Amino acid sequence: MAHVPGSNFDDISLCLRELAGDLSIHWTGANDGIWRTLDQQLWRLTRNPTLVLNTISASALRVQCEVPEFRALVQAMMAGRQRALAAPSWLQGLPAAPALRSVAYFSMEYMLGESLPIYSGGLGNVAGDQLKAASELGVPVTAVGILWQQGYFRQEIDGEGRQHALYPVNDAHEMAVEPLLDANGNRVRLTMHLRGLDIWIRGWQARVGRTRLLLLDTNDPANPVPIRLTTGQLYGGDSEMRLRQELVLGIGGWRMLLAAGVEPDICHLNDGHAALAVLERARSYMQAHDVSFQVALAATRPGNLFTTHTPVAAGFDRFAPALIARYLGGYAEQELGLSLPALLALGRQHAEADAEPFNMAYLAVRCAGAVNAVSSLHGQTSRDIFQGLFPRWPTPEVPVGHVTNGVHLPMWMSWRMRAALSPGAQAEDCIGDGAVDVPNAVAQASDGRLWDLRNQARTRLIVFARAHQARSRAAHGDTPERIASAGQGLDPHRLTVGFARRFASYKRPNLLLSDPERLLRLLNHPKRPLQLLVAGKAHPADLEGQQMLQRWHAFTRQAQTQGRVVLLQDYEVRLARHLIQGVDLWLNTPRRPWEASGTSGMKVLANGGLNLSQRDGWWAEACEGEVGWSIGDGEEHDASHDAIDAEQLYTVLEEEVVPAFYQRDAEGLPQAWLRRMRHSMSELVPRFTAERAVRDYTERYYLPGASAYLARTRLDPGRAGRLAQVSEQLRQHWPQIRFGSVQVQPGASAHQVELSLETGAIAPEWLQVQMYADGIAGQPARVLALEAVPGGQAGAPTRYRGSIPGDRPVEHYTARVIPSDACGLAVPLELPLIAWQR
Ligand SMILES: *Cc1c(COP(=O)(O)O)cnc(C)c1O
Repeated sequence: MAHVPGSNFDDISLCLRELAGDLSIHWTGANDGIWRTLDQQLWRLTRNPTLVLNTISASALRVQCEVPEFRALVQAMMAGRQRALAAPSWLQGLPAAPALRSVAYFSMEYMLGESLPIYSGGLGNVAGDQLKAASELGVPVTAVGILWQQGYFRQEIDGEGRQHALYPVNDAHEMAVEPLLDANGNRVRLTMHLRGLDIWIRGWQARVGRTRLLLLDTNDPANPVPIRLTTGQLYGGDSEMRLRQELVLGIGGWRMLLAAGVEPDICHLNDGHAALAVLERARSYMQAHDVSFQVALAATRPGNLFTTHTPVAAGFDRFAPALIARYLGGYAEQELGLSLPALLALGRQHAEADAEPFNMAYLAVRCAGAVNAVSSLHGQTSRDIFQGLFPRWPTPEVPVGHVTNGVHLPMWMSWRMRAALSPGAQAEDCIGDGAVDVPNAVAQASDGRLWDLRNQARTRLIVFARAHQARSRAAHGDTPERIASAGQGLDPHRLTVGFARRFASYKRPNLLLSDPERLLRLLNHPKRPLQLLVAGKAHPADLEGQQMLQRWHAFTRQAQTQGRVVLLQDYEVRLARHLIQGVDLWLNTPRRPWEASGTSGMKVLANGGLNLSQRDGWWAEACEGEVGWSIGDGEEHDASHDAIDAEQLYTVLEEEVVPAFYQRDAEGLPQAWLRRMRHSMSELVPRFTAERAVRDYTERYYLPGASAYLARTRLDPGRAGRLAQVSEQLRQHWPQIRFGSVQVQPGASAHQVELSLETGAIAPEWLQVQMYADGIAGQPARVLALEAVPGGQAGAPTRYRGSIPGDRPVEHYTARVIPSDACGLAVPLELPLIAWQR
């Protein structure tokens, strides 16, 4: 794969291509000399190595390659990359590692860098950062996504503050992708049957260190025009378009993996968009082993992991049954051997409810071997949301765990900060975090040094913000005076607050604007002013979000703001990086619990920025101690509570944030601020990295999932069939279960329980009888197993007995029965059966 860096022209140009094509490399001011040399301006404006390389002529490149310094630079970077890729990985060090051969990771979007604009925001950020972390940890991930021809929309804000959604075309020659080839060197091009039509899906791949991202594309001239446009706009189009996109991603994606020679043990769904992949996985297992859909699902299910990202049921993708019938009816009947009602039932809470839409998250849960949310609080919220799929199960037992998101430090930490905190790091160590130990480095750094770094970072942000604003104004045809005055109200010494996010109403982007006079007083304080940088896109269909943007625009245009609030247009990865690296304070004001995790606030941590946020998502578990500031009371409220949150927001800014920043000691250092900075950096950075998240995923889900999948397939090919049978029989006979008498002998230290149970056609070994008491005073619920009393007569009720702790009154306990471990199925995820005494 890798080329030994030689020094002739062909070698050097091959190296350049490899370097340009590896999205895991972080190009920084310390190591981007190659691209600066080739085309300084193009590099500065786009930071896209593929574009630079494909723009320079062969003859000009040849001349460059004759320059010894240039060759040396390329060779050094190449060697650094090879060192990183060849280094022993974290996974290799785990004894269980061989069990995990391959993980397929599905996501609608990926934010990997400027040279691959196929993302919208947070979801793509999580996917991109995790893919980079997986490469570094040696986790064998192959990611699957879509090569969006236009990506997500680009934002223009006009003189009236109206947002315009623009769709520049992504040219494959200007992106870090190459055609996906099969083992014979042929371009991978699949056909997929869609409503009486065979459509073509072309394959591409992007390289991310040791991992690959396979990308699907329907823009094949052989396709009818509407089909070609399926992979046009990310989150664009109507419900039918979305379903088509998800068919391409899920079903086409699984086929693309197989065509590329990947045989995944684990199928990780990053959100429900790609949930159809689990059907296609089952289909291909059916075909290979000549079994029914139920058996194929039982076999493959432990290898499916579903990560949910939405904290509200309305956020799930749902499709009208008629649409599912049209697009998937034939597939279900002919390929899966499922009737349409049986397929619909997989995506519904109530199988028989004809009007109930088909919910992709429900499909994912029903076909997953494990489900996780993306923060602790989101885990709780998700257990509520999915409770309906586990009728009569107590909410805390709804099988949704959590892995809190994290961010990839090399992607987001400023390289200057990194160089300052790990002076030993080389510029060529271009992959990975170079083991920068932030807590230790911060402990070693003096207050003066830390504050210097902050001042420099803030200054660079102001310079960037001015240039960004000036370019936007020039692009609008503003007057030379207005262009020259862009960002001139900003001052590099002032407390600089950043607020950038999707303008969706739950994010409450206008909370800070709810009392404009009070905000003006903060901005215009004679001694302790703050300044504010705002950015964000509202979805083109979200008119309310666009109005909120317009209000900010109008506010910035008021003379009283003195240019101290700047609205920066087109929030994307580059703008995000500048903002999070430079701000002193990052503000986040979502309505709890709507922010499933959030990641932007994590990005400021390693850069020394502090968070002021609602106790929601990741911040709800991070905000302990002096690490930043919080608003909200830790409870959930509707919009009528916004005024109280706003009041608190202003008060915290006025009484805590501003004084902490401006109160200086004899050396001019803000001691209170620095103390928080140290806490935030040393306590939170290590907890909220993508490395930690991927290690969690690997240890808690990928490795156990791969073993369970192996146990149901290659190790014991008949097992899935037996499990499917047990599952079917239990479901069928479950209603025959009846509790007979339950007798309890109360005692001081323990109560003695004895009960009888009619089990109908179900053999008692399939059942586990338990005494259950709800948790009280923050304690978890109690579940205590009873033992079957031996020697019962055939056909007579089975008797059970046991003793339960006497510290809770007898009335707190209820008897219940669930399928036992002997069934071999995950309960309740695979088999949500339960019966209660009352
Ligand atoms: C990090 C990031 C996001 C996610 O931010 P949250 O507000 O925390 O969800 C969105 N967009 C861009 C461009 C980002 O860099």
